Amino acid sequence: MELSILSIIYIIGSLAFIAGLKMLSDPAHARRGNQVAAAGMGLAIFGAIFLYETEGEKLHNHLWIFAGLAIGGIAGALAAKKVKMTAMPEMVSLFNGMGGACAALISIVEFDHLIKHPFAVSFNASSVLAEGSVAPELISMGHVLIILLGMAIGAMSFSGSMVAWAKLNGRLKDYSFKGQHVFNLFILLLIIVGISGLVANIAGGFRVDARLDPLSIRVVTASWIPWLFYGILFLSLAYGIQFVLPIGGADMPVVISLLNSFTGVAAACGGFLYDNKAMLTGGILVGAAGTLLTILMCRAMNRSLINVLVGSFGGQQAGEGSAQEQGSFKEISVSDAAAVLNYSSRVMIVPGYGLAVAQAQHVCHELEKLLADKGVDVQYAIHPVAGRMPGHMNVLLAEADVGYDKLMEMEQANELFPSTDAVLVLGANDVVNPAAKSDPSSPLYGMPILDVELAKMVIVNKRSMKPGYAGVENALFFQPKTSMLFGDAKSVLQQLVTEIKTL
Ligand code: NDP
Repeated sequence: MELSILSIIYIIGSLAFIAGLKMLSDPAHARRGNQVAAAGMGLAIFGAIFLYETEGEKLHNHLWIFAGLAIGGIAGALAAKKVKMTAMPEMVSLFNGMGGACAALISIVEFDHLIKHPFAVSFNASSVLAEGSVAPELISMGHVLIILLGMAIGAMSFSGSMVAWAKLNGRLKDYSFKGQHVFNLFILLLIIVGISGLVANIAGGFRVDARLDPLSIRVVTASWIPWLFYGILFLSLAYGIQFVLPIGGADMPVVISLLNSFTGVAAACGGFLYDNKAMLTGGILVGAAGTLLTILMCRAMNRSLINVLVGSFGGQQAGEGSAQEQGSFKEISVSDAAAVLNYSSRVMIVPGYGLAVAQAQHVCHELEKLLADKGVDVQYAIHPVAGRMPGHMNVLLAEADVGYDKLMEMEQANELFPSTDAVLVLGANDVVNPAAKSDPSSPLYGMPILDVELAKMVIVNKRSMKPGYAGVENALFFQPKTSMLFGDAKSVLQQLVTEIKTL
Protein backbone atom coordinates (compact mmCIF):
# COMPACT_ATOMS: atom_id res chain seq x y z
CA MET A 1 0.00 0.00 0.00
CA GLU A 2 2.66 2.46 1.08
CA LEU A 3 4.87 1.41 -1.79
CA SER A 4 2.16 2.26 -4.24
CA ILE A 5 1.60 5.65 -2.62
CA LEU A 6 5.35 6.22 -2.87
CA SER A 7 5.32 5.17 -6.52
CA ILE A 8 2.53 7.65 -7.21
CA ILE A 9 4.49 10.37 -5.41
CA TYR A 10 7.56 9.58 -7.50
CA ILE A 11 5.51 9.77 -10.68
CA ILE A 12 4.00 13.13 -9.65
CA GLY A 13 7.51 14.37 -8.84
CA SER A 14 8.76 13.20 -12.24
CA LEU A 15 5.86 14.82 -14.09
CA ALA A 16 6.39 18.08 -12.22
CA PHE A 17 10.05 17.96 -13.13
CA ILE A 18 9.29 17.37 -16.82
CA ALA A 19 6.61 20.11 -16.88
CA GLY A 20 8.95 22.51 -15.04
CA LEU A 21 11.75 21.85 -17.50
CA LYS A 22 9.41 22.46 -20.42
CA MET A 23 8.30 25.77 -18.88
CA LEU A 24 11.94 26.86 -18.59
CA SER A 25 12.10 27.06 -22.38
CA ASP A 26 10.09 30.28 -22.38
CA PRO A 27 11.24 33.25 -20.27
CA ALA A 28 7.60 34.13 -19.56
CA HIS A 29 7.11 30.86 -17.62
CA ALA A 30 10.67 30.13 -16.57
CA ARG A 31 10.33 31.25 -12.94
CA ARG A 32 7.09 29.29 -12.50
CA GLY A 33 8.71 26.27 -14.20
CA ASN A 34 11.53 26.36 -11.68
CA GLN A 35 8.99 26.45 -8.82
CA VAL A 36 6.96 23.56 -10.29
CA ALA A 37 10.08 21.39 -10.70
CA ALA A 38 11.31 22.25 -7.19
CA ALA A 39 7.89 21.45 -5.67
CA GLY A 40 7.83 18.08 -7.48
CA MET A 41 11.31 17.23 -6.25
CA GLY A 42 10.40 18.35 -2.72
CA LEU A 43 7.42 16.02 -2.76
CA ALA A 44 9.58 13.12 -3.96
CA ILE A 45 12.23 13.84 -1.29
CA PHE A 46 9.70 13.88 1.57
CA GLY A 47 7.92 10.85 0.11
CA ALA A 48 11.22 8.95 0.14
CA ILE A 49 12.06 10.07 3.68
CA PHE A 50 8.73 9.00 5.19
CA LEU A 51 7.55 6.13 2.99
CA TYR A 52 10.62 4.37 1.57
CA GLU A 53 11.19 0.93 3.03
CA THR A 54 14.31 -1.17 2.86
CA GLU A 55 14.45 -4.72 4.22
CA GLY A 56 10.99 -4.17 5.69
CA GLU A 57 12.11 -1.12 7.64
CA LYS A 58 11.40 2.54 7.11
CA LEU A 59 14.15 5.12 7.34
CA HIS A 60 14.62 5.94 10.99
CA ASN A 61 17.66 8.24 11.09
CA HIS A 62 15.53 11.35 10.64
CA LEU A 63 17.79 13.55 12.74
CA TRP A 64 20.72 13.03 10.35
CA ILE A 65 18.51 13.43 7.31
CA PHE A 66 16.89 16.66 8.45
CA ALA A 67 20.18 18.09 9.74
CA GLY A 68 21.68 17.46 6.28
CA LEU A 69 18.63 18.94 4.56
CA ALA A 70 18.74 22.04 6.76
CA ILE A 71 22.48 22.65 6.28
CA GLY A 72 22.35 22.05 2.51
CA GLY A 73 19.08 23.95 2.07
CA ILE A 74 20.20 27.04 3.98
CA ALA A 75 23.65 27.10 2.35
CA GLY A 76 22.11 26.66 -1.12
CA ALA A 77 19.44 29.34 -0.61
CA LEU A 78 21.94 31.87 0.76
CA ALA A 79 24.44 31.19 -2.04
CA ALA A 80 21.74 31.51 -4.70
CA LYS A 81 20.47 34.78 -3.19
CA LYS A 82 23.91 36.32 -2.88
CA VAL A 83 25.46 35.24 -6.16
CA LYS A 84 26.26 37.91 -8.74
CA MET A 85 25.01 37.24 -12.23
CA THR A 86 28.57 37.13 -13.57
CA ALA A 87 29.50 34.50 -10.95
CA MET A 88 26.61 32.22 -11.96
CA PRO A 89 28.77 29.69 -13.85
CA GLU A 90 30.91 29.29 -10.69
CA MET A 91 27.88 28.54 -8.58
CA VAL A 92 26.43 26.14 -11.13
CA SER A 93 29.77 24.37 -11.12
CA LEU A 94 29.87 24.14 -7.33
CA PHE A 95 26.30 22.83 -7.06
CA ASN A 96 26.92 20.40 -9.87
CA GLY A 97 30.00 19.08 -8.07
CA MET A 98 27.89 18.49 -4.95
CA GLY A 99 25.42 16.48 -7.07
CA GLY A 100 28.25 14.35 -8.43
CA ALA A 101 29.63 13.81 -4.91
CA CYS A 102 26.17 12.70 -3.69
CA ALA A 103 25.85 10.19 -6.53
CA ALA A 104 29.34 8.82 -5.82
CA LEU A 105 28.59 8.57 -2.06
CA ILE A 106 25.38 6.65 -2.77
CA SER A 107 27.41 4.16 -4.79
CA ILE A 108 30.08 3.86 -2.07
CA VAL A 109 27.42 3.11 0.55
CA GLU A 110 25.65 0.65 -1.74
CA PHE A 111 28.90 -1.10 -2.62
CA ASP A 112 29.66 -1.61 1.05
CA HIS A 113 26.14 -2.90 1.52
CA LEU A 114 26.53 -5.19 -1.46
CA ILE A 115 29.70 -6.91 -0.37
CA LYS A 116 28.61 -7.21 3.25
CA HIS A 117 24.97 -8.19 2.68
CA PRO A 118 24.58 -9.40 -0.89
CA PHE A 119 21.49 -11.41 0.00
CA ALA A 120 19.61 -8.39 1.12
CA VAL A 121 20.23 -7.00 -2.32
CA SER A 122 19.03 -9.84 -4.43
CA PHE A 123 18.92 -13.21 -2.73
CA ASN A 124 15.72 -15.13 -3.11
CA ALA A 125 15.38 -16.92 0.24
CA SER A 126 13.39 -19.75 -1.25
CA SER A 127 16.24 -20.88 -3.46
CA VAL A 128 18.70 -23.20 -1.81
CA LEU A 129 22.33 -23.04 -2.74
CA ALA A 130 24.66 -25.99 -2.46
CA GLU A 131 27.60 -25.58 -0.13
CA GLY A 132 30.57 -23.92 -1.81
CA SER A 133 28.69 -23.28 -5.01
CA VAL A 134 29.15 -20.28 -7.20
CA ALA A 135 25.91 -18.41 -7.59
CA PRO A 136 26.15 -16.30 -10.71
CA GLU A 137 22.55 -15.17 -10.40
CA LEU A 138 23.11 -14.06 -6.81
CA ILE A 139 23.80 -10.45 -7.74
CA SER A 140 22.94 -9.24 -11.19
CA MET A 141 25.63 -7.77 -13.39
CA GLY A 142 23.42 -4.78 -14.06
CA HIS A 143 23.20 -3.99 -10.34
CA VAL A 144 26.96 -4.05 -9.86
CA LEU A 145 27.55 -2.08 -13.06
CA ILE A 146 25.11 0.64 -12.00
CA ILE A 147 26.85 1.00 -8.63
CA LEU A 148 30.24 1.27 -10.28
CA LEU A 149 29.12 3.68 -13.00
CA GLY A 150 27.38 5.89 -10.45
CA MET A 151 30.57 5.98 -8.39
CA ALA A 152 32.96 6.61 -11.30
CA ILE A 153 30.86 9.20 -13.16
CA GLY A 154 29.81 10.95 -9.95
CA ALA A 155 33.44 11.16 -8.77
CA MET A 156 34.61 12.53 -12.15
CA SER A 157 31.85 15.10 -12.08
CA PHE A 158 32.72 16.10 -8.50
CA SER A 159 36.45 16.57 -8.98
CA GLY A 160 36.02 18.10 -12.46
CA SER A 161 33.42 20.58 -11.20
CA MET A 162 35.62 21.58 -8.27
CA VAL A 163 38.51 22.29 -10.64
CA ALA A 164 36.13 24.23 -12.92
CA TRP A 165 34.89 26.25 -9.93
CA ALA A 166 38.46 27.04 -8.82
CA LYS A 167 39.46 28.03 -12.35
CA LEU A 168 36.44 30.25 -12.85
CA ASN A 169 37.13 32.22 -9.71
CA GLY A 170 40.83 32.48 -10.47
CA ARG A 171 42.13 30.15 -7.73
CA LEU A 172 43.54 27.75 -10.32
CA LYS A 173 45.22 28.39 -13.64
CA ASP A 174 45.05 26.31 -16.83
CA TYR A 175 47.60 23.54 -16.65
CA SER A 176 48.61 20.98 -19.23
CA PHE A 177 51.64 18.89 -20.08
CA LYS A 178 52.86 17.15 -23.19
CA GLY A 179 51.01 13.92 -23.80
CA GLN A 180 48.21 14.86 -21.43
CA HIS A 181 45.48 13.54 -23.73
CA VAL A 182 47.20 10.16 -23.95
CA PHE A 183 47.63 10.14 -20.18
CA ASN A 184 43.92 10.98 -19.73
CA LEU A 185 42.91 8.21 -22.12
CA PHE A 186 45.13 5.81 -20.19
CA ILE A 187 43.40 6.65 -16.89
CA LEU A 188 40.02 6.23 -18.58
CA LEU A 189 41.10 2.84 -19.92
CA LEU A 190 42.23 1.72 -16.45
CA ILE A 191 38.83 2.76 -15.04
CA ILE A 192 36.99 0.78 -17.73
CA VAL A 193 39.17 -2.30 -17.19
CA GLY A 194 38.73 -2.04 -13.40
CA ILE A 195 34.95 -1.72 -13.68
CA SER A 196 34.75 -4.69 -16.07
CA GLY A 197 36.89 -6.79 -13.72
CA LEU A 198 34.74 -5.95 -10.70
CA VAL A 199 31.47 -6.58 -12.52
CA ALA A 200 32.66 -9.97 -13.73
CA ASN A 201 33.96 -10.99 -10.31
CA ILE A 202 31.25 -9.73 -8.01
CA ALA A 203 28.28 -10.51 -10.18
CA GLY A 204 29.35 -13.99 -11.13
CA GLY A 205 31.75 -15.14 -8.53
CA PHE A 206 30.69 -14.73 -4.90
CA ARG A 207 31.46 -18.12 -3.41
CA VAL A 208 28.80 -18.98 -0.94
CA ASP A 209 28.87 -21.44 1.84
CA ALA A 210 25.20 -22.15 1.92
CA ARG A 211 23.18 -23.89 4.60
CA LEU A 212 19.50 -24.65 4.51
CA ASP A 213 18.86 -21.62 6.63
CA PRO A 214 19.53 -18.67 4.34
CA LEU A 215 20.26 -16.45 7.35
CA SER A 216 23.47 -18.38 8.03
CA ILE A 217 24.77 -18.08 4.52
CA ARG A 218 28.30 -16.75 4.62
CA VAL A 219 29.81 -14.78 1.79
CA VAL A 220 33.47 -15.09 0.97
CA THR A 221 34.56 -11.87 -0.66
CA ALA A 222 37.97 -11.74 -2.25
CA SER A 223 40.03 -9.26 -0.24
CA TRP A 224 41.15 -7.38 -3.35
CA ILE A 225 37.61 -6.43 -4.30
CA PRO A 226 37.29 -3.37 -2.00
CA TRP A 227 40.84 -2.30 -2.96
CA LEU A 228 39.95 -2.35 -6.61
CA PHE A 229 36.73 -0.45 -5.92
CA TYR A 230 38.53 2.34 -4.08
CA GLY A 231 41.28 2.30 -6.71
CA ILE A 232 38.64 3.02 -9.37
CA LEU A 233 37.24 5.80 -7.17
CA PHE A 234 40.71 7.36 -6.90
CA LEU A 235 41.31 7.09 -10.65
CA SER A 236 37.90 8.64 -11.39
CA LEU A 237 38.68 11.60 -9.15
CA ALA A 238 42.06 11.97 -10.86
CA TYR A 239 40.45 11.75 -14.29
CA GLY A 240 37.96 14.53 -13.45
CA ILE A 241 40.86 16.79 -12.43
CA GLN A 242 43.02 15.95 -15.44
CA PHE A 243 40.09 16.33 -17.81
CA VAL A 244 39.22 19.89 -16.73
CA LEU A 245 42.66 21.32 -15.80
CA PRO A 246 43.91 22.01 -19.33
CA ILE A 247 40.65 23.46 -20.64
CA GLY A 248 40.84 27.20 -21.05
CA GLY A 249 38.50 29.92 -19.89
CA ALA A 250 36.88 30.12 -23.30
CA ASP A 251 35.43 26.66 -23.00
CA MET A 252 34.64 26.43 -19.32
CA PRO A 253 30.86 26.90 -19.74
CA VAL A 254 30.80 24.05 -22.26
CA VAL A 255 32.73 21.83 -19.86
CA ILE A 256 30.43 22.77 -16.99
CA SER A 257 27.43 21.80 -19.05
CA LEU A 258 29.10 18.48 -19.92
CA LEU A 259 29.91 17.82 -16.25
CA ASN A 260 26.29 18.64 -15.50
CA SER A 261 25.21 15.86 -17.81
CA PHE A 262 27.68 13.51 -16.04
CA THR A 263 26.00 14.31 -12.73
CA GLY A 264 22.60 13.61 -14.28
CA VAL A 265 23.72 10.17 -15.43
CA ALA A 266 25.30 9.42 -12.03
CA ALA A 267 22.08 10.47 -10.25
CA ALA A 268 20.04 8.28 -12.61
CA CYS A 269 22.22 5.33 -11.46
CA GLY A 270 21.13 6.11 -7.89
CA GLY A 271 17.51 6.12 -9.08
CA PHE A 272 17.99 2.60 -10.50
CA LEU A 273 19.53 1.37 -7.27
CA TYR A 274 16.69 2.58 -5.08
CA ASP A 275 13.94 2.05 -7.61
CA ASN A 276 13.28 5.76 -7.22
CA LYS A 277 11.47 6.90 -10.34
CA ALA A 278 11.76 10.60 -9.54
CA MET A 279 15.53 10.34 -9.15
CA LEU A 280 15.75 8.25 -12.29
CA THR A 281 13.68 10.66 -14.39
CA GLY A 282 15.44 13.69 -12.92
CA GLY A 283 18.85 12.18 -13.57
CA ILE A 284 18.02 11.18 -17.14
CA LEU A 285 16.54 14.60 -17.90
CA VAL A 286 19.55 16.42 -16.46
CA GLY A 287 21.87 14.07 -18.34
CA ALA A 288 20.02 14.59 -21.64
CA ALA A 289 19.54 18.35 -21.14
CA GLY A 290 23.22 18.80 -20.23
CA THR A 291 24.31 16.87 -23.31
CA LEU A 292 22.00 18.86 -25.61
CA LEU A 293 23.12 22.15 -24.09
CA THR A 294 26.76 21.16 -24.56
CA ILE A 295 26.13 20.41 -28.23
CA LEU A 296 24.16 23.63 -28.75
CA MET A 297 26.86 25.75 -27.11
CA CYS A 298 29.54 24.12 -29.23
CA ARG A 299 27.44 24.78 -32.31
CA ALA A 300 26.83 28.41 -31.37
CA MET A 301 30.60 28.88 -30.98
CA ASN A 302 31.28 26.86 -34.12
CA ARG A 303 33.40 24.28 -32.27
CA SER A 304 33.12 20.54 -32.21
CA LEU A 305 32.63 18.71 -28.94
CA ILE A 306 35.79 16.69 -29.59
CA ASN A 307 37.62 20.00 -29.86
CA VAL A 308 36.45 20.88 -26.36
CA LEU A 309 37.06 17.38 -24.97
CA VAL A 310 40.66 17.20 -26.06
CA GLY A 311 40.90 20.56 -24.41
CA SER A 312 43.65 23.06 -23.83
CA PHE A 313 42.88 25.35 -26.71
CA GLY A 314 40.45 27.83 -25.20
CA GLY A 315 42.89 29.16 -22.64
CA GLN A 316 45.47 29.92 -25.21
CA GLN A 317 43.02 31.79 -27.35
CA ALA A 318 41.39 33.83 -24.67
CA GLY A 319 43.18 37.03 -24.01
CA GLU A 320 45.94 36.21 -26.49
CA GLY A 321 44.48 38.59 -29.00
CA SER A 322 46.67 40.60 -31.15
CA ALA A 323 45.71 44.19 -31.00
CA GLN A 324 46.97 44.96 -34.48
CA GLU A 325 45.62 48.31 -35.50
CA GLN A 326 43.07 48.08 -38.26
CA GLY A 327 43.03 51.77 -39.06
CA SER A 328 41.51 54.63 -37.16
CA PHE A 329 38.32 54.68 -35.20
CA LYS A 330 36.13 57.60 -34.30
CA GLU A 331 34.66 58.54 -30.95
CA ILE A 332 31.28 60.01 -30.16
CA SER A 333 30.36 62.14 -27.15
CA VAL A 334 27.53 61.24 -24.81
CA SER A 335 25.47 64.23 -25.94
CA ASP A 336 25.86 63.35 -29.63
CA ALA A 337 25.01 59.71 -28.94
CA ALA A 338 21.95 60.84 -26.98
CA ALA A 339 20.81 62.95 -29.92
CA VAL A 340 21.29 60.09 -32.39
CA LEU A 341 19.22 57.74 -30.24
CA ASN A 342 16.57 60.35 -29.48
CA TYR A 343 15.94 61.18 -33.14
CA SER A 344 16.00 57.60 -34.45
CA SER A 345 12.83 55.73 -35.45
CA ARG A 346 14.22 52.30 -34.60
CA VAL A 347 17.03 51.55 -32.14
CA MET A 348 18.43 48.08 -31.54
CA ILE A 349 20.35 47.48 -28.31
CA VAL A 350 22.97 44.70 -28.41
CA PRO A 351 23.79 43.59 -24.87
CA GLY A 352 26.98 41.66 -24.16
CA TYR A 353 29.17 40.45 -21.33
CA GLY A 354 30.24 44.01 -20.44
CA LEU A 355 26.63 44.94 -19.61
CA ALA A 356 26.55 42.10 -17.08
CA VAL A 357 29.93 43.13 -15.64
CA ALA A 358 28.74 46.71 -15.23
CA GLN A 359 25.40 45.52 -13.78
CA ALA A 360 23.82 48.13 -16.03
CA GLN A 361 20.64 46.21 -16.90
CA HIS A 362 18.33 48.45 -14.83
CA VAL A 363 19.57 51.72 -16.27
CA CYS A 364 19.52 50.11 -19.71
CA HIS A 365 15.82 49.38 -19.23
CA GLU A 366 15.34 52.95 -18.08
CA LEU A 367 16.92 54.23 -21.31
CA GLU A 368 14.74 51.87 -23.35
CA LYS A 369 11.54 53.14 -21.64
CA LEU A 370 12.62 56.75 -22.02
CA LEU A 371 13.22 56.32 -25.76
CA ALA A 372 9.96 54.39 -26.16
CA ASP A 373 8.09 57.26 -24.44
CA LYS A 374 9.59 59.54 -27.07
CA GLY A 375 8.20 57.34 -29.84
CA VAL A 376 11.37 55.39 -30.67
CA ASP A 377 10.89 51.69 -31.44
CA VAL A 378 13.48 50.01 -29.18
CA GLN A 379 14.35 46.31 -29.21
CA TYR A 380 17.18 44.11 -28.00
CA ALA A 381 19.20 41.79 -30.24
CA ILE A 382 20.14 38.67 -28.29
CA HIS A 383 23.04 36.53 -29.49
CA PRO A 384 22.89 32.92 -28.18
CA VAL A 385 26.41 33.03 -26.71
CA ALA A 386 26.50 36.66 -25.56
CA GLY A 387 27.78 36.82 -21.98
CA ARG A 388 29.26 33.81 -20.27
CA MET A 389 26.47 31.29 -20.04
CA PRO A 390 23.54 30.26 -22.20
CA GLY A 391 20.62 32.62 -21.74
CA HIS A 392 22.86 35.06 -19.83
CA MET A 393 21.41 38.16 -21.52
CA ASN A 394 17.81 36.94 -21.20
CA VAL A 395 18.26 36.37 -17.48
CA LEU A 396 20.07 39.68 -17.04
CA LEU A 397 17.38 41.68 -18.82
CA ALA A 398 14.55 39.76 -17.16
CA GLU A 399 16.07 40.84 -13.82
CA ALA A 400 15.41 44.44 -14.91
CA ASP A 401 11.84 43.61 -16.05
CA VAL A 402 12.55 44.14 -19.74
CA GLY A 403 9.51 42.83 -21.66
CA TYR A 404 10.11 39.48 -23.38
CA ASP A 405 8.48 40.83 -26.54
CA LYS A 406 11.39 43.29 -26.79
CA LEU A 407 13.97 40.52 -27.08
CA MET A 408 14.81 39.56 -30.66
CA GLU A 409 16.64 36.33 -31.34
CA MET A 410 19.68 36.57 -33.61
CA GLU A 411 17.86 35.58 -36.82
CA GLN A 412 15.00 38.03 -36.18
CA ALA A 413 17.40 40.81 -35.28
CA ASN A 414 19.50 40.24 -38.40
CA GLU A 415 16.38 40.75 -40.51
CA LEU A 416 15.63 44.00 -38.67
CA PHE A 417 19.10 45.60 -38.85
CA PRO A 418 18.73 46.98 -42.42
CA SER A 419 15.71 49.01 -41.27
CA THR A 420 17.37 50.10 -38.00
CA ASP A 421 18.60 53.67 -37.62
CA ALA A 422 20.98 53.14 -34.72
CA VAL A 423 22.46 50.12 -32.99
CA LEU A 424 23.72 50.60 -29.43
CA VAL A 425 26.27 47.87 -28.62
CA LEU A 426 26.63 47.63 -24.85
CA GLY A 427 29.68 45.67 -23.69
CA ALA A 428 29.42 43.17 -26.55
CA ASN A 429 32.39 42.38 -28.74
CA ASP A 430 32.83 38.87 -30.17
CA VAL A 431 29.15 38.48 -30.99
CA VAL A 432 29.34 41.47 -33.37
CA ASN A 433 32.78 40.70 -34.84
CA PRO A 434 32.56 40.52 -38.66
CA ALA A 435 35.75 38.41 -38.73
CA ALA A 436 33.46 35.49 -37.87
CA LYS A 437 32.15 35.79 -41.45
CA SER A 438 35.17 36.98 -43.36
CA ASP A 439 38.42 35.82 -41.76
CA PRO A 440 39.07 32.04 -41.91
CA SER A 441 42.12 32.47 -39.66
CA SER A 442 40.02 33.97 -36.84
CA PRO A 443 39.08 31.70 -33.92
CA LEU A 444 35.58 33.12 -34.33
CA TYR A 445 35.33 32.11 -37.98
CA GLY A 446 32.06 30.35 -38.68
CA MET A 447 30.25 31.58 -35.57
CA PRO A 448 26.98 33.23 -36.60
CA ILE A 449 27.03 36.88 -35.50
CA LEU A 450 24.70 39.85 -35.20
CA ASP A 451 25.03 41.78 -38.47
CA VAL A 452 24.96 45.20 -36.81
CA GLU A 453 26.86 46.84 -39.65
CA LEU A 454 23.70 46.52 -41.79
CA ALA A 455 22.12 49.30 -39.70
CA LYS A 456 22.55 52.97 -40.61
CA MET A 457 24.75 53.71 -37.60
CA VAL A 458 26.49 51.75 -34.86
CA ILE A 459 27.44 53.14 -31.45
CA VAL A 460 29.73 50.83 -29.48
CA ASN A 461 30.08 51.27 -25.73
CA LYS A 462 33.02 49.64 -24.00
CA ARG A 463 35.83 50.89 -21.80
CA SER A 464 38.77 50.57 -24.19
CA MET A 465 39.86 49.04 -27.49
CA LYS A 466 40.75 45.78 -25.72
CA PRO A 467 39.58 42.60 -27.42
CA GLY A 468 36.69 40.47 -26.16
CA TYR A 469 36.63 36.92 -24.92
CA ALA A 470 38.16 35.29 -28.00
CA GLY A 471 41.07 37.72 -27.76
CA VAL A 472 40.82 39.04 -31.29
CA GLU A 473 40.60 42.50 -32.77
CA ASN A 474 37.18 43.65 -34.00
CA ALA A 475 37.06 45.31 -37.43
CA LEU A 476 33.58 46.66 -36.66
CA PHE A 477 35.12 49.31 -34.41
CA PHE A 478 37.08 50.73 -37.37
CA GLN A 479 34.24 50.91 -39.86
CA PRO A 480 33.02 54.35 -41.00
CA LYS A 481 29.52 53.66 -39.68
CA THR A 482 30.80 52.91 -36.19
CA SER A 483 31.39 55.40 -33.36
CA MET A 484 33.02 54.41 -30.08
CA LEU A 485 31.43 55.62 -26.86
CA PHE A 486 34.03 54.80 -24.20
CA GLY A 487 33.27 54.27 -20.53
CA ASP A 488 31.73 51.87 -18.05
CA ALA A 489 28.34 50.77 -19.41
CA LYS A 490 26.43 51.80 -16.27
CA SER A 491 27.87 55.28 -16.06
CA VAL A 492 27.55 55.88 -19.82
CA LEU A 493 23.90 54.74 -19.76
CA GLN A 494 23.18 57.00 -16.78
CA GLN A 495 24.66 59.95 -18.65
CA LEU A 496 22.65 59.07 -21.78
CA VAL A 497 19.43 58.98 -19.74
CA THR A 498 20.18 62.36 -18.19
CA GLU A 499 21.05 63.82 -21.57
CA ILE A 500 18.00 62.45 -23.40
CA LYS A 501 15.71 63.81 -20.68
CA THR A 502 16.88 67.30 -21.60
CA LEU A 503 16.18 66.89 -25.34
P1 NDP B 1 32.99 39.61 -25.07
O1 NDP B 1 33.58 38.90 -23.93
O2 NDP B 1 33.44 39.24 -26.45
O3 NDP B 1 33.24 41.18 -24.93
C1 NDP B 1 32.78 41.86 -23.82
C2 NDP B 1 33.27 43.29 -23.92
O4 NDP B 1 32.70 44.00 -22.84
C3 NDP B 1 34.77 43.41 -23.80
O5 NDP B 1 35.36 43.69 -25.05
C4 NDP B 1 34.97 44.55 -22.78
O6 NDP B 1 35.76 45.56 -23.38
C5 NDP B 1 33.56 45.05 -22.52
N1 NDP B 1 33.34 45.39 -21.12
C6 NDP B 1 33.77 44.73 -20.02
N2 NDP B 1 33.38 45.35 -18.92
C7 NDP B 1 32.68 46.46 -19.32
C8 NDP B 1 32.02 47.49 -18.62
N3 NDP B 1 32.01 47.57 -17.29
N4 NDP B 1 31.40 48.44 -19.35
C9 NDP B 1 31.42 48.41 -20.72
N5 NDP B 1 32.04 47.44 -21.42
C10 NDP B 1 32.66 46.47 -20.72
O7 NDP B 1 31.42 39.48 -24.90
P2 NDP B 1 30.27 39.01 -25.86
O8 NDP B 1 29.06 38.96 -25.01
O9 NDP B 1 30.26 39.84 -27.10
O10 NDP B 1 30.68 37.57 -26.34
C11 NDP B 1 30.66 36.44 -25.48
C12 NDP B 1 31.89 35.60 -25.69
O11 NDP B 1 31.90 34.59 -24.68
C13 NDP B 1 31.92 34.90 -27.03
O12 NDP B 1 33.23 34.81 -27.49
C14 NDP B 1 31.42 33.51 -26.69
O13 NDP B 1 31.88 32.54 -27.60
C15 NDP B 1 32.02 33.33 -25.32
N6 NDP B 1 31.30 32.29 -24.58
C16 NDP B 1 29.99 32.45 -24.25
C17 NDP B 1 29.31 31.41 -23.66
C18 NDP B 1 27.87 31.50 -23.36
O14 NDP B 1 27.29 30.47 -23.05
N7 NDP B 1 27.28 32.66 -23.41
C19 NDP B 1 29.96 30.16 -23.34
C20 NDP B 1 31.34 30.15 -23.65
C21 NDP B 1 31.98 31.18 -24.24
P3 NDP B 1 36.59 46.60 -22.45
O15 NDP B 1 37.45 45.78 -21.58
O16 NDP B 1 37.33 47.45 -23.44
O17 NDP B 1 35.56 47.38 -21.69
